[in-house]
Amino acid sequence: MVVILKPNAPKERIDNLLNHFKDMGLSINYSEGANTTIIGLIGDTSRIDESDVAAYEIVERVQRVSEPFKKVNRKFHPKDSIIEVAGRKIGEGYFNVFAGPCSVESEEQILMVAESVKKAGASFLRGGAFKPRTSPYSFQGLEADGLKLLLAAKRQTGMPIVTEIMSEKHLDLFADVDIIQVGARNMQNFMLLKELGRSNKPILLKRGLSSTMEEFLMSAEYICAGGNENVMLCERGIRTFETMIRNNLDISAVPLAKTLSHLPIIVDPSHAAGRRDMIDPLSRAAIAAGADGLMIEAHNNPRCALCDGAQSLDLPQFDSVMENISRRVAFEGKQLVTA
Ligand code: PEP
Ligand code: MN
Repeated sequence: MVVILKPNAPKERIDNLLNHFKDMGLSINYSEGANTTIIGLIGDTSRIDESDVAAYEIVERVQRVSEPFKKVNRKFHPKDSIIEVAGRKIGEGYFNVFAGPCSVESEEQILMVAESVKKAGASFLRGGAFKPRTSPYSFQGLEADGLKLLLAAKRQTGMPIVTEIMSEKHLDLFADVDIIQVGARNMQNFMLLKELGRSNKPILLKRGLSSTMEEFLMSAEYICAGGNENVMLCERGIRTFETMIRNNLDISAVPLAKTLSHLPIIVDPSHAAGRRDMIDPLSRAAIAAGADGLMIEAHNNPRCALCDGAQSLDLPQFDSVMENISRRVAFEGKQLVTA
């Protein structure tokens, strides 16, 4: 349930109302905007009579929220959320590109890619250290050593880093990581989501391989319900009957997420398409649909990449895709955040 307050409601009266709800055992999501203040109520609100609440002089109107997701719901927080990471803004008018190789392979590789994508205009370096692979015989990532190489690249280039966590047991290793990614395969790893909810790290949550929008938002809700509201959504394609592309980029997920939620939404055209020739058009589609950023795989030598080479841009290709991205972002009236 959300309670929309009248403008200029006196603080003392607001506090009285908040205490009334707290006494009923409800938890409160308080959102004070420039024009509207909203009290979001979470818990068993079935005992509340809407007309009793509407009778308070400071209350403008009361609305039941039928969706099961509350904290991530736009009804609780009408303005887009802006998440600040390492001095960079993500969301509402600020467009970020997270770029780098699927997996960190060596110091030389990650440094070369980091320097290059930074110069081209990416704001975050992405690279996998712990890799979720379908086959146990495929390269699993350099794991803790890969994280060390990412941190070295961060020190050397000043680029903040994004990398995937696969188990809550590794959380200590991620202390200096700027954004923790939860991959598609772990979108419903609820123990991991709960643990990340207790941390204060910004989280990039990827949509599961066959997840509905409601399931996706409920996973984001898990993290927010634990107290960590620094969550970004990432659309990375969903499974369909099509075999010519790896996944189908669900472009409608972008406006849908924007309608339902206030969280930023990033699009990953690389894992959606699985082929590099689709990265430029899908990036343009994502920008036009209202995405807040892109996550793109780029590699110094895609043909020899240990993972996802077919979808990785080489560095000159990344430069040219970034030029198009930068033009389109400006056309949308957004600011391209750079490193
Ligand atoms: C990745 O980002 O490297 C990755 C494994 O993506 P996804 O979880 O979307 O498959
Ligand atoms: Mn990959």
